Amino acid sequence: MRDIDLYQDYGRPQLNEDLTAIWDNTKRFALKEIAPFINEWDEAEAFPRPLHQKAASAGLLGIAYPQALGGSPASHRMRSVMSLALCRYAKSGGLLSSLLTHNIALPPLLHHGSDFLKQTIIPAVLSGEKIAALAITEPNGGSDVAHLKTHAYLDGNDWVISGEKVFITSGYRADYLTVAVRTGEAPYTKDGSQMTKGARGISLIVIPTDLPGIERTLLKKMGWWCSDTAHIRFDQVRVPSQYVVGEVGTGFKMIMSNFNAERLSMSAAAIGFALACYDEALAWSSQRQTFGKNLIEHQVILHKLMDMQMRIQSSLGMLWRVCDQIDYSPFTDHQPDPQWVAHVCLLKNHCTQTMQFCADQGVQILGGMGFMRGTACERIYREVKVMMIGGGAEEIMKELAAKQSF
Ligand SMILES: Cc1cc2nc3c(=O)[nH]c(=O)nc-3n(C[C@H](O)[C@H](O)[C@H](O)COP(=O)(O)OP(=O)(O)OC[C@H]3O[C@@H](n4cnc5c(N)ncnc54)[C@H](O)[C@@H]3O)c2cc1C
Repeated sequence: MRDIDLYQDYGRPQLNEDLTAIWDNTKRFALKEIAPFINEWDEAEAFPRPLHQKAASAGLLGIAYPQALGGSPASHRMRSVMSLALCRYAKSGGLLSSLLTHNIALPPLLHHGSDFLKQTIIPAVLSGEKIAALAITEPNGGSDVAHLKTHAYLDGNDWVISGEKVFITSGYRADYLTVAVRTGEAPYTKDGSQMTKGARGISLIVIPTDLPGIERTLLKKMGWWCSDTAHIRFDQVRVPSQYVVGEVGTGFKMIMSNFNAERLSMSAAAIGFALACYDEALAWSSQRQTFGKNLIEHQVILHKLMDMQMRIQSSLGMLWRVCDQIDYSPFTDHQPDPQWVAHVCLLKNHCTQTMQFCADQGVQILGGMGFMRGTACERIYREVKVMMIGGGAEEIMKELAAKQSF
């Protein structure tokens, strides 16, 4: 599929110029700085930290953040174009998730954080100097955010935090963790007698990872090999109260609104990965010969490619519709229409199913080669399940969409 088919909007020539610039810039970066090394990084289960600074210099980290904090304002569509191009040409979910974890860690600070938090953390992360991660999920469960157990009490001017987080992307390397903790209600006693259950009483606190009492362990995974995914333990970690994001006890709302931009971005990424599988399958079937002709000349194979295209096109159509339903930037603090939230949930499910279908068909078309490490289809086949679980599992997306719809 030609690049131009993917993001053209014939009604808005000015916007097209911006989109083309973002697409070309991201594609150039992915092909030069990531694609030649990605197999090596995946096998090493790490990518070089200076890539963050390179990506920042290319304008990829700051997209959709205010200029004053080192970013460049952008719409949902612009940001989606960047995700699409990055995933199509870098072909690695591990790389994407780790390089861009700040996009789930920083928005609560941007909207609700004090000047101290914004100025200390956001510019340093957008410049690629520091790494930020978001820590919500716990060993006892991730879907049911309202029941998290990591807790904090107030001691003088410090919050003292204990508990565990699991499956945290960039959690091993992060300099700052935006952590969901149960603070309960005033007077925030040490014995936890005021610990409110459920969504009330959850706060977001930024934890600088150089504080004593933090233990981090790397986890082994089915996919996303080059990203660091951590189990993190907090044992009486003392964090000054200026690191609380917004009002104490309002964390649950922030977490929920943060999910919308994450799910939209994962949807665009899933289409990018579906395209990477399509590209590889098309190239392979155009030169691989069986029974005296190119694979693509067998009608069954051609139809597989058309089935992939059909799903990619419908996902793109849905993506642009959802992007254009909302004309503010992804990182503005706006209470979205419930119907839009429902559309984002269904979009995530549709796009990740497209990715799953294309990875499966891609491996099949490549045959034995599709089972070999180093092909995009093989990697993406291993990476698809996390896209259907992380950021809200498929079942949760349907529940939420239904709740917002009726
Ligand atoms: C590689 C990776 C990276 C991640 N990165 C981060 C990160 O950076 N930060 C972070 O906070 N979290 C992260 N996560 C965690 C992720 O968001 C959670 O795994 C996800 O929310 C699901 O939570 P869980 O794994 O605890 O599954 P559970 O909540 O235990 O659910 C298990 C399964 O049960 C089903 N299920 C759950 N509830 C329902 C229901 N009500 N109805 C029907 N079915 C249901 C779903 O199929 C679900 O997959 C990451 C996970 C992975 C694998």
